[in-house]
Amino acid sequence: MAWDFSTEPEFEEKLDWIGAFVRDEAEPLDLAFADGGIIYDKSHPVHDEVVRPLQQKVKAQGLWACHLGPELGGKGYGQVKLALMAEILGRSAWAPSLFGCQAPDSGNAEILAHFGSDAQKERYLEPLLEQRSVSCYSMTEPHAGADPRLFNCRAERDGNDWVINGEKFFSSNMRYADFAIVMAITNPDVPVYQGASMFLVPTDTPGLDILRHTGVGDEPEGTGNHPHVRYENVRVPGDALLGGEGQAFRIAQTRLGGGRLHHAMRTVGAAQRCFDMMLERAVSRHTIGGPLSKKQMVQEAIADSWVQLLQFRLQVLHAAWTCDQVGGSAARAEIAGVKVATPKVYHDVVVRAIQLHGALGVSNEMPFTKHLLMSLSLGLADGPTEVHKLTIAKAALKGVEPAEGLWPTEHLPKRRAEACQRFAHLLEHEVGNR
Ligand SMILES: Cc1cc2nc3c(=O)[nH]c(=O)nc-3n(C[C@H](O)[C@H](O)[C@H](O)COP(=O)(O)OP(=O)(O)OC[C@H]3O[C@@H](n4cnc5c(N)ncnc54)[C@H](O)[C@@H]3O)c2cc1C
Repeated sequence: MAWDFSTEPEFEEKLDWIGAFVRDEAEPLDLAFADGGIIYDKSHPVHDEVVRPLQQKVKAQGLWACHLGPELGGKGYGQVKLALMAEILGRSAWAPSLFGCQAPDSGNAEILAHFGSDAQKERYLEPLLEQRSVSCYSMTEPHAGADPRLFNCRAERDGNDWVINGEKFFSSNMRYADFAIVMAITNPDVPVYQGASMFLVPTDTPGLDILRHTGVGDEPEGTGNHPHVRYENVRVPGDALLGGEGQAFRIAQTRLGGGRLHHAMRTVGAAQRCFDMMLERAVSRHTIGGPLSKKQMVQEAIADSWVQLLQFRLQVLHAAWTCDQVGGSAARAEIAGVKVATPKVYHDVVVRAIQLHGALGVSNEMPFTKHLLMSLSLGLADGPTEVHKLTIAKAALKGVEPAEGLWPTEHLPKRRAEACQRFAHLLEHEVGNR
């Protein structure tokens, strides 16, 4: 298939507008309201006073929630256009929220749109799209994340209700969320992939308790945004079931595929920002008779980062383009590929940028350690790198046949003998002429 990433001039103008808006409006919010929790804490006055007027400007440009189809108030942009937008939004923590596409609400909105009943859409989706509510995705358990077969949070029927019991870990933003999408086993007698279901659980339901606020990096212990949660006899009505019974993994794949790709798109921008800082430092800092940029090992760090970034950007655009052509589920290997590349490229670029900044690089006066932690987090969130490598290998190995006999198909003696036999008359001539 031929492929093409050309951008129409009108969309190019939109991208320019987004670039200026992110620089002038979103980046100052990153500095003044650096605690990531504030983005989700709708009771903070910055939302009414600053964020909502900025969101109106985004809406006026027709750039609100572009990941959604027109029927939900989005643009229905394909993934390639989203990729070009998201790499700009990835330069700022606040920007996705200003554009109505912040994780995890964006992915949660997508599954509500796909699988929700009309009543569920009215109750949960509409306020979420308008950012009048906040959502949480509650799947990982304290003893098991990468292997869902170990999950044991249970939901059992009691009359028309479901009663949920279990514990979850790293349920990001639960503290600010109005509702959680909770994965629970509804039929323990079949494999988990058929026996788990998703529930919409308002966070004020009795029995839902945050046991501990878990944070990341050097956030003080007991604070943070990824709590350990207990569900103890949490009773929800029958219509809290999202999609059908046993549909949890189908729903999770819908959500996580897009989410992984969008994380990768934003990472292109975040890593590019670190690269830009690296370049500026290389020409600004002088040591041993000249600027860092004149040292060959510094040039190597710059060249390696440039190559990795360009490869990564093209890989992300290719995965986005493949999704547009064949849909997200047929593009599983491509999405797994960018999921694997995301933490590696981001990490490598950030580490080189830190090194070139010397002590300042690891200090709390530069943003690099946040980027470093984010690069590590992206190797875990939505599934660890190793698991996605398995997906890629499985796709690559699909349909590959074992070699016939002892030797590989490309074994040179056998292939050469066949080729020599084909050209025997010319080879005899060559020998005769010697
Ligand atoms: C910042 C952040 C936000 C998150 N937000 C959410 C959220 O909102 N909701 C939610 O439900 N979860 C969330 N998570 C949890 C995330 O989904 C899990 O961390 C992830 O699924 C891995 O599970 P685990 O941490 O229990 O690791 P484990 O399952 O204990 O795995 C640990 C390590 O073992 C290795 N490993 C595991 N399986 C394999 C394998 N098959 N082959 C080789 N090696 C393997 C890998 O090195 C892996 O990192 C978040 C995580 C992070 C870091």
